Amino acid sequence: MAEYDFDLFVIGAGSGGVRASRMAAAAGMRVAVAEDRYMGGTCVNVGCVPKKLFVYASSYRESFEDARGFGWLGQEGANFHWPTLRDNNAKEISRLNGIYRSLLDNSKVTVIDGRARLAGRHEVVVGDQVYSAERILVATGGWPYVPEFPGSEFAITSNEIFSLETFPRRILVVGGGYIAVEFAGIFAGLGAETHLSYRRDLFLRGFDRDVRNFVRDEMAKKQVDLHFNHQVVAIEKQQDGSLLVREDDGETLVVDAVLFATGRKPNTAGLGLEKLGVVLHKDGTIGVDDNFRSSVTSIYALGDVTGGPELTPVALAEAMALVKHWQTGKTAEIDYNNIPTAVFCQPNIGTVGLTEEEARQAGIEVAIFKSDFRAMRHTVSGRDERTLMKLIVDRASDKVVGAHMVGPDAGEIIQGIAVAMKAGATKAVFDQTIGIHPTAAEEFVTMRTPVGG
Ligand code: FAD
Ligand code: NDP
Repeated sequence: MAEYDFDLFVIGAGSGGVRASRMAAAAGMRVAVAEDRYMGGTCVNVGCVPKKLFVYASSYRESFEDARGFGWLGQEGANFHWPTLRDNNAKEISRLNGIYRSLLDNSKVTVIDGRARLAGRHEVVVGDQVYSAERILVATGGWPYVPEFPGSEFAITSNEIFSLETFPRRILVVGGGYIAVEFAGIFAGLGAETHLSYRRDLFLRGFDRDVRNFVRDEMAKKQVDLHFNHQVVAIEKQQDGSLLVREDDGETLVVDAVLFATGRKPNTAGLGLEKLGVVLHKDGTIGVDDNFRSSVTSIYALGDVTGGPELTPVALAEAMALVKHWQTGKTAEIDYNNIPTAVFCQPNIGTVGLTEEEARQAGIEVAIFKSDFRAMRHTVSGRDERTLMKLIVDRASDKVVGAHMVGPDAGEIIQGIAVAMKAGATKAVFDQTIGIHPTAAEEFVTMRTPVGG
């Protein structure tokens, strides 16, 4: 039997790579992980964590305004100071980097700093060192994609946005997915003149139509200038440093920053995968079977680099399923149905299961329950913000097949609903559940009359 330096060599210490390394080491494997940029990967450094901190930061302006109705006067003078947020965020991230490193060290995982590439079916090169391993796991994640056009070099991405030297007083966000709507909300909340440009008629393609319409209306109320059916064709840097943006209909816009949030591409360049015969999909993601094995039997891949749902909990679940598969020999157990997700736009979206459109397309005879209301807080704050809740029920089985919310803490609420749906809850079970009063969440168990279907 071949002797290898390690039982497992993981490339990439992001969400999936760290979890797989630790679990495999705990299972008794000799594990190494190579990381060339930052411990914890995208989520910790330029994704979920800083994004959520910035969402918190952006929510204070409205909180100060809303507080007045409750008798808290004198908040008008509050000023937002970008360097404080930026630097405190950086401090927290470097604390987390340290925690990730010690988690790996304490798990007896060998951490190798540097860019890794494959040199053989069992060989990985980092710098001038060659390591051999029985199994190699590629968990290299993704990288923001910016289309090429004149001046595209002036665009920034989510990689740069958290560490800008100066606060952009005017910003254009391009795209209509998670990152675009989240950052439009962040910058509008922080007080920037905020524009969002999207190439089709309504953003958040793939989400429930009512949710998309609702978010459009709420974002417009928060002064995000929405440019639908628009495409940026050029960016020109002006003498004063500002950016002149040209759109395809001849409209122009002057801003201080243009954030492109137009999707991400898998991090596979220079890894040497093709040379070894690892089959990639057309979009560059690594093709894997049910056990995360690529077309080369010793090479595995998981997380964003495989093109599944690009979410941290999915990468974590895949890592745990893979290590369990190695331990037991049984097929990796992972259920991609009903993955709950939240978009941290303002107010937040929380969603699980089918959209109304998907349910109808699947031939399900649906009953739709909907509630659109002003949250209790805003009866006194005076803010014109509404909350939406929607349940999609399969009439034949009475099962709840979709739950959607736009409102404060939607992610927190939908997480519990996702558990109920996983357990196969019917609408009758929702109806039998006693509400918690007074909360917004109780609406999910008090919607009695179908509005459509
Ligand atoms: P990553 O976490 O990207 O890790 C890959 C690692 O591999 C990186 O550290 C990289 O430096 C390293 N690497 C790459 N190539 C090499 C190499 N050749 N050698 C050595 N190391 C290498 N998901 C959520 O669930 N909730 C959210 O709120 C959320 N918010 C997000 C916000 C933003 C702005 C972004 C960009 C993403 C967000 N995501 C969110 C998605 C989430 O971050 C990813 O799905 C998750 O990080 C994927 O994990 P991964 O392990 O596949 O890859
Ligand atoms: P998304 O895939 O969500 O959205 C990309 C957007 O860019 C789409 O609206 C797409 O339009 C548009 N687009 C793509 N190409 C072009 C182009 N050439 N010109 C103009 N517009 C274009 O990607 P994001 O970058 O927003 O985020 C990446 C992933 O990270 C997300 O899909 C998500 O999985 C994850 N993420 C998760 C978060 C969370 O859980 N809260 C937060 C942030 C990211 P069209 O609709 O027409 O295709």
